[in-house]
Amino acid sequence: MSEPQLVCPGCQRAHPREARFCESCGMPLVERGAELPEPSAARLHARKIKPQYAEGQAVKVAQAANLAQAEFLAGLLLEEGIPSLLSSPIGGHGALAGPRDILVPESGAEAAREALSPPPPSGGAAA
Ligand SMILES: [Zn+2]
Repeated sequence: MSEPQLVCPGCQRAHPREARFCESCGMPLVERGAELPEPSAARLHARKIKPQYAEGQAVKVAQAANLAQAEFLAGLLLEEGIPSLLSSPIGGHGALAGPRDILVPESGAEAAREALSPPPPSGGAAA
């Protein structure tokens, strides 16, 4: 039954949970064992998303064969700053193996289709 304590990163002195700064050296206190707070994946995603791609109704831009592929494609879209939604046409929980529609906001649909289309063959005439 040990209450989590705060420990000073400077002098290792333990403080009660409600303390905010070290009594000895004034350092901000962190929870024992806690590393620097890592930004959650969701926050990282939010940071990447371009607002201009996040407007309008959700439209379907692709279909993936399964959730893993859908998440992979969603990751590709995110690289372009396009937020995406995955939906299962079957619906309900537990349908992990079913195909997934990939939906993006209308304003990002064109960029999404571009991002998901296979890259043009290299070595083509660029000019
Ligand atoms: Zn201290």
